[in-house]
Amino acid sequence: MAPKLLSSTNFKSLFNSVDTFLFDCDGVIWKGDTLIDGVSHTLDLLRSKASSLSHSGKNIVFVTNNSMKSRRQYAEKFRSLGLTSVTQDEIFSSSFAAAMYLKANNFPKDKKVYVIGGEGILEELHLAGFTGLGGPEDGEKKAQWKSNSLFQHDKTVGAVVVGLDPNINYYKLQYGTLCVRENPGCLFIATNRDAVGHMTDLQEWPGAGCMVAAMCGSTEREPIVVGKPATFMMDFLIQKFGTETSRMCMVGDRLDTDVLFGQNAGCKTLLVLSGCTSESNLLDENNKIEPDYYTSMVSDITKLMDS
Ligand code: PLP
Ligand code: CA
Repeated sequence: MAPKLLSSTNFKSLFNSVDTFLFDCDGVIWKGDTLIDGVSHTLDLLRSKASSLSHSGKNIVFVTNNSMKSRRQYAEKFRSLGLTSVTQDEIFSSSFAAAMYLKANNFPKDKKVYVIGGEGILEELHLAGFTGLGGPEDGEKKAQWKSNSLFQHDKTVGAVVVGLDPNINYYKLQYGTLCVRENPGCLFIATNRDAVGHMTDLQEWPGAGCMVAAMCGSTEREPIVVGKPATFMMDFLIQKFGTETSRMCMVGDRLDTDVLFGQNAGCKTLLVLSGCTSESNLLDENNKIEPDYYTSMVSDITKLMDS
């Protein structure tokens, strides 16, 4: 069915059929480090029991593919943008998902995890009781090859996690590649495969997909993806909140991550045009990923709740 523009008529039925709103972050809540207009008021209204449409407030959850920060660091970002009611428990980042994937699969605590990615992944691994190696610390290292010596890597590494790494280098790729190629049992986990991300609100920059592709090239393996559109985070959310996915609505700005994630999990989907997808991208005849609804930005919900 073609996506419907959100209106005062169809919003009522969407609102009444949903208990939990899942919000993507970049392009929906903020753009880079800038809060998108009207978000704070809309979140307050959705949580509040006092809306004209509802007797009980909605659950709110944030799901971001950006692995650079831990949940604790995201909670700080929400606070710094004035969204003081958001708690760490409501935030699901792909850094956290990587650690939860290892936990869910009983990854042995005596094995180590090599990280090509940011501090956020290392912090989440540590909080889950795992030993991480690599990350920003390996950013200055150089891979040097000599005919009479081997590049040494820790043979107890049982998983390599790859996310966005602005300091990716040949040393890290050699380290991760050896871990995976020399040990067929070593897990290769990607936090996400976004082609690009917003390091600022002005421009797109290469995303984790580019680092993951480099490792796919050298290892000749495909990764386990824990971020959107894979449903691992959703399985975790269902367990945690005990809510049916048919009563959830995924709100996002990207078709191939957010909307597909919602659809893969059986949620309702709402695309906002405040991020990386324009109305013409959405309605292009070659686009195969169609949300249930679309609207210009999250704050439109406020107007519809008041109408
Ligand atoms: N990965 C990186 C590095 C990013 O910078 C971004 C957005 O800024 C994303 C992923 C996508 O994040 P989200 O899922 O919140 O849109
Ligand atoms: Ca987004």
